[in-house]
Amino acid sequence: CGIIGYVGGTSGEADVLDVLMDGLSGLEYRGYDSAGVAVAEPSIAVRKREGNLSALEEALTSDSLDGSAGIGHTRWSTHGPPSDVNAHPHTDSETRVAVVHNGIIENYRALRDTLETRGYVFESDTDTEVVPNLIVDALEDGLDCEAAFRHAIAQLEGSYAIAAVFAGSETVYAARHESPLVLGVGEDGHYLASDVPAFIEYTDRVIYLDDGEFATITPETITVTDNDGTVVDTSVETIEWDA
Ligand code: GLU
Repeated sequence: CGIIGYVGGTSGEADVLDVLMDGLSGLEYRGYDSAGVAVAEPSIAVRKREGNLSALEEALTSDSLDGSAGIGHTRWSTHGPPSDVNAHPHTDSETRVAVVHNGIIENYRALRDTLETRGYVFESDTDTEVVPNLIVDALEDGLDCEAAFRHAIAQLEGSYAIAAVFAGSETVYAARHESPLVLGVGEDGHYLASDVPAFIEYTDRVIYLDDGEFATITPETITVTDNDGTVVDTSVETIEWDA
């Protein structure tokens, strides 16, 4: 159970897939039963596999991914058995948004029932799949990406570290509640992960997110906000690391 994200833009300091795969291998120590990645900009593409990272690597060897922003996940199943379909990232049926999640969404059943009544179609057994569908539902109501992300998160009960990418955008959105999330500040690109080992080979400058905080990460900027959307002052710490 781990999350990695990277936003480098087209001239970023590292290849998005390299960062995601290095990140997932740096999170393997946390344990997992499946793994996956999604890249965005221009459109979203997802590869995910039950099993260890070599299964995902094999899927990427035959069909690689390129883009300027991406997210990755190692899953430790809580809702639905380990399988390719239940692996993260999860998307809406039109792949407008991709989401990775660590933790448990306690009220997912009620949220899913409501969404299904309104015509949203689910393919996995996970609690997580409600999140991309809640986001798209808010986009349909006319909200922009950031507002739609916040609106979806506000409906969740439980524990979560969540990251999302949108088709046609090189911004990664993240939120946390009772599950760790740390941001990495690079020279020419920004990172996020469940834990520092995921990106330490790229940067040792970090910002820890607190419970209830949101992060909006672009190639140029990191903005941390509280529940109300007010910008939070952050401090960048430099990690001492003997790797
Ligand atoms: N509850 C989610 C699932 O079962 C996320 C599990 C995790 O933290 O990896 O898919």
